[in-house]
Amino acid sequence: MSDFIPVNEPLLNGNEKKYLCECIDTGWISSEGPFVKEFEEKMSATVGRKYGIAVTNGTAALEVAVQALKLKEGDEVILPAFTIISCAEAIVRCGAKPVLVDCDPYTYNICAEDVEKKITSRTKALMVVHLYGLPVDMDPILKLAQEHGLKIIEDAAEMHGQTYKGRHCGSFGDISIFSFYPNKHVTTGEGGMVVTDDEELAERCRSIRNLCFQKKKRYVHEELSGNFRFTNLQAAVGLAQLERLDEFINRKREMGAFYTEGLKDVKGLQLPITETEYAKNIYWVYGIVLKDSVGIDNEEMQKRLAAKGIGTRTFFWCMHEQPVFQEMGLFKGESYPVAEKLARRGFYIPSGLALTKEQMSTVVKAVKEVMSEV
Ligand SMILES: *Cc1c(COP(=O)(O)O)cnc(C)c1O
Repeated sequence: MSDFIPVNEPLLNGNEKKYLCECIDTGWISSEGPFVKEFEEKMSATVGRKYGIAVTNGTAALEVAVQALKLKEGDEVILPAFTIISCAEAIVRCGAKPVLVDCDPYTYNICAEDVEKKITSRTKALMVVHLYGLPVDMDPILKLAQEHGLKIIEDAAEMHGQTYKGRHCGSFGDISIFSFYPNKHVTTGEGGMVVTDDEELAERCRSIRNLCFQKKKRYVHEELSGNFRFTNLQAAVGLAQLERLDEFINRKREMGAFYTEGLKDVKGLQLPITETEYAKNIYWVYGIVLKDSVGIDNEEMQKRLAAKGIGTRTFFWCMHEQPVFQEMGLFKGESYPVAEKLARRGFYIPSGLALTKEQMSTVVKAVKEVMSEV
């Protein structure tokens, strides 16, 4: 189907090609190329951090961040039940124990009251994940972390350019991460970055990114990691993307406003919140939740919209319902009703930066048609 509207198409019509050609012409394509450092500096400065360590992807950034904090077996890390697998995976891989909390049905984010109930003497860190365009209410979380001496790992993978009370997301964690996957507001194809203000943590991240080679005796290792290096080619694309971040945020907000205007009178749909008291939505994606009155779930919705040429994706699946974690004996008998509902009733419609008004109108029409059938 040639006129199929994909769920995401990135916008690459700025300086991407020019900077990429520069890589080819100069021969700098590896992680040693000059764009890598420039991209790290510009990205970390954009979000108000001292250090940026670019890595292969957002998942790797979480793994590197968790390893940098030296969490050990038995340490507990609190995170949302409703998030991407990368978050729990990074915690489980380092031997620590993931402890889940439910989320808000409208912002999809965790709140401090729920987090507080899960803090024990073994809790070492809070992994805060800002989801789908609105940030977590950070002030009460920061207060909790301070009172209990906990580290904050901030997953800002979907939050480029978003602020909480005027301060950039990605600036709240002891260590914070971004992803540059093509459906994020800044893409490098694949890519990620750890950002921090702590020089020692930054140095650890650089070492972990690069096989834990040592400065003096390069091939003598005191710690194991992997190769998470980021290439000059990725950085070339990232620099061009970053130049347009403000424009991209505006485009996303226009997209959000357009969809909300088109869908606001459709019965049975819970649309994204436009703003909270601390932030305006940047619509990482335009997420919709089917209300209980609707007789189909998100997978059926996805099928019906696909039949009309519209690409969609369901929301994340809850961590406590992941077969891989159940197999490991994790989260036995636990239930997080809001997360479970979002996982079954939430989906998002085409939300990429290359989306045209015409395509959005087609999407709105298709959603209305399906909703009138059910
Ligand atoms: C995309 C995403 C990641 C993972 O990033 P990748 O670059 O795809 O590995 C992590 N956390 C959240 C919240 C994300 O949306």
